[in-house]
Amino acid sequence: MIQQEITTPITVLAYDELSPEQRRLVDLAREYTGHSYAPYSHFCVGAAIRLGNGEIVCGANQENAAYPSGTCAERSACYSAGARFPGVGIESIAIAARGTDGQFTPLPCAPCGACRQALLEYETLAGHDVEVLLVGRESVYRLPSIKSLLPLAFTEIG
Ligand SMILES: [Zn+2]
Repeated sequence: MIQQEITTPITVLAYDELSPEQRRLVDLAREYTGHSYAPYSHFCVGAAIRLGNGEIVCGANQENAAYPSGTCAERSACYSAGARFPGVGIESIAIAARGTDGQFTPLPCAPCGACRQALLEYETLAGHDVEVLLVGRESVYRLPSIKSLLPLAFTEIG
């Protein structure tokens, strides 16, 4: 028998410890929580993606009365990036959320499983790790890659 262990490296940073580029993404992710359409969950999520060409594409969760028809902020952003700049790899993504009280979540909000799977494919297409910044009220969790969020992932292209 061989026992293995999977670990996820997380760097906890204060806003002041972020680089100017990271702060820009964090600020936009927070701003785009205001672009959310979440009349059902009242959980507003924003995402900001920096691409290899320097462009930043943002997204917000979009809900629908036909519940599964909506999409999360992360997929809203990465699908928009893919449509606007096909073939340009993602460099980093920041994600922020406001809860039902309208305040930013105290702890960083992490992507759902479906978003992790979708983002992983974009990371694979990019050919390099995609930095992940999960934004909380007081701190930011930095993860080195999407695959660190989804170990043992299903992939057909990797
Ligand atoms: Zn999601």
